[in-house]
Amino acid sequence: MKIITCTTPLLEQNMYIVEEGKHCIVIDPYYDEKTAVLLEGKIVDLLLVTHEHYDHISGVNKFKELYGCKLLSNSKCDNNLQRPAKNFSKYFEAYYEFQADLQKPDFAFASNYSCSADELFNDSITFRWQHNTVFIKMVPGHSEGGNFIFLNENILFSGDILLDESVPAAKFPGGSPKEFTDVALPYINTLPPELVVYPGHGESFSLHEYYGYINKKEK
Ligand SMILES: [Zn+2]
Repeated sequence: MKIITCTTPLLEQNMYIVEEGKHCIVIDPYYDEKTAVLLEGKIVDLLLVTHEHYDHISGVNKFKELYGCKLLSNSKCDNNLQRPAKNFSKYFEAYYEFQADLQKPDFAFASNYSCSADELFNDSITFRWQHNTVFIKMVPGHSEGGNFIFLNENILFSGDILLDESVPAAKFPGGSPKEFTDVALPYINTLPPELVVYPGHGESFSLHEYYGYINKKEK
């Protein structure tokens, strides 16, 4: 199995392509010419999203159209995927305008972007894919419809709930510092420290490094 990390121009969001031979699962799809080259000759078996924010979903419709693949997500996430005010596509370009330190990417923003899941689950789902086990669990805190996507026992795609260098942003609409502290964090604390985390932004790290970060913050 191979995991390809593509850091995209939209807030340096990470799209992940998980490959098993010709088959792949794409997590947080973003589409441009580079993506097209990476996927040449590949079969996209499935799309997954870590959460409903525009930087993580902008390629969903394009991927469905080009590769005939389906998106699987939890129903809360799906509700927000369908609403530009909830998936933030409505505000994204303006967000760049208000952040003086952010360079606006050369990207065709769609201010009324929406997409939807083709297959739904409520709290969690487990399935087999190419000799691997995929387990997805809904984890709120950063957004209402956040997903932790586990691959086998040792890999987690965490979206923006678990980031290496910063405390997850719970300040956006749909985020909740209380849910992060009361729901997400206790759950994170049950996970094995050797778990390798592929976050929504930034480099991958193992969970014990994240524990270290929390300890540092508490001193
Ligand atoms: Zn986000």
